[in-house]
Amino acid sequence: MSAGKIKAAAQQVEDTMLRAYRLWFEHARKCDTCKHESSARDGCEVGRELWGTYCLARIAHPEEKGQPS
Ligand SMILES: [Zn+2]
Repeated sequence: MSAGKIKAAAQQVEDTMLRAYRLWFEHARKCDTCKHESSARDGCEVGRELWGTYCLARIAHPEEKGQPS
């Protein structure tokens, strides 16, 4: 695999994670419950769902992060 392909694949994973993170962030910014909670896990149902999506996107590709789970 070329370096360019590896970079493109990593970029795609990053995009998925970033998009999920941004969705949660946008919600938490406007949500009265989530913006006052220090942890995303303590947010409202929607906030926790968005955060869960982000976490799933992150753990779905542990090999790209080079971290054993
Ligand atoms: Zn919320």
